[in-house]
Amino acid sequence: MQTIRAPTTQGAASRVAGRRMCRPVASAKVSTAVTTDVSKRSVPTKMEEGEMPLNTYNNKAPFKAKIRSVEKITGPKATGETCHIIVETEGKIPFWEGQSYGVIPPGTKINSKGKEVPHGTRLYSIASSRYGDDFDGQTASLCVRRAVYNDPETGKEDPAKKGICSNFLCDAAPGTEITMTGPTGKVLLLPADPAAPLICVATGTGIAPFRSFWRRAFMEDVPSWKFTGLFWLFMGVANSDAKLYDEELQALAKAYPSQFRLDYALSREQKNRKGGKMYIQDKVEEYADEIFDLLDNGAHMYFCGLKGMMPGIQDMLERVAKEKGLNYEEWVEGLKHKNQWHVEVY
Ligand code: FAD
Repeated sequence: MQTIRAPTTQGAASRVAGRRMCRPVASAKVSTAVTTDVSKRSVPTKMEEGEMPLNTYNNKAPFKAKIRSVEKITGPKATGETCHIIVETEGKIPFWEGQSYGVIPPGTKINSKGKEVPHGTRLYSIASSRYGDDFDGQTASLCVRRAVYNDPETGKEDPAKKGICSNFLCDAAPGTEITMTGPTGKVLLLPADPAAPLICVATGTGIAPFRSFWRRAFMEDVPSWKFTGLFWLFMGVANSDAKLYDEELQALAKAYPSQFRLDYALSREQKNRKGGKMYIQDKVEEYADEIFDLLDNGAHMYFCGLKGMMPGIQDMLERVAKEKGLNYEEWVEGLKHKNQWHVEVY
């Protein structure tokens, strides 16, 4: 793995994080995933104009960009490794918050017919707002978990079976070319009403689109969308070292105590009310009454992360709905009908 010496501000960021092994930023203009500066910045609001971009680039005509930096943002005791990756797009592959990009990893594979073909596209939620981490619209960020394969018999990692695209991205040196498609997706878009409360439920890299939301809501001066609602983030990870963007989140919680709420479910560190592991549904359940009330009053609820998160959440919500004398299916259908219910899991 290539390591490049960190510029000064990055060094400061490393000290803030303490436990992190940051892969540094190769640019005079330093962007970092570890920030505690959540002040409002002015942004090039020309990027507010026009329709939502969709599939501007595809496999046949992809967009080529360069990776600016790859920074590991999980600590040593995390279950797995996650990287914050900044891509220099020069604003030429515009997107809206909540959308994803496709990435086509380099190289080929042998398909089921024995033919050598390029690798397929992998989707990644965009983890910055449309203005990027430098607020100038010239970059976009991804939050990528390195996919590894552990042999079930030996329990050892088998590098021959590691995930192609996530490892390409997490190992990329600054300046590496990246082949992109998209943007894609319209499930996780922000509501037009800037007063609508946002309840965001994430596991792991599912936090990526919500980072784009909180940056737009709190860290950018967007005259046409001045957020005045409640932003409530539920984040599920295994342990404290697996938290993502926690410094930024703590700074937001401090700066906006009545508008920004943050609740972690740390499955390997916390216990739920019944003494079992604290999963994301257990943490959400603690606030079920408030959440049902908020949804009754027009809040939007978003879910993003691994597919496996949804059954536990749905079972919990169904149980709570029943206790309240509601028919769960009808309740969810009603929310979907009013476009208040947003699920993107993978
Ligand atoms: P692949 O090469 O596709 O391999 C897939 C898995 O199979 C890996 O776990 C690999 O270890 C395993 N494997 C490989 N070979 C074998 C074998 N022979 N036997 C058994 N297992 C094997 N991911 C993120 O990290 N961040 C995001 O923000 C994100 N957003 C997404 C948004 C959407 C809408 C979707 C659909 C997906 C998203 N993903 C995200 C997932 C991402 O698209 C990829 O699926 C993920 O990175 C794995 O791709 P890969 O190329 O690394 O793994």
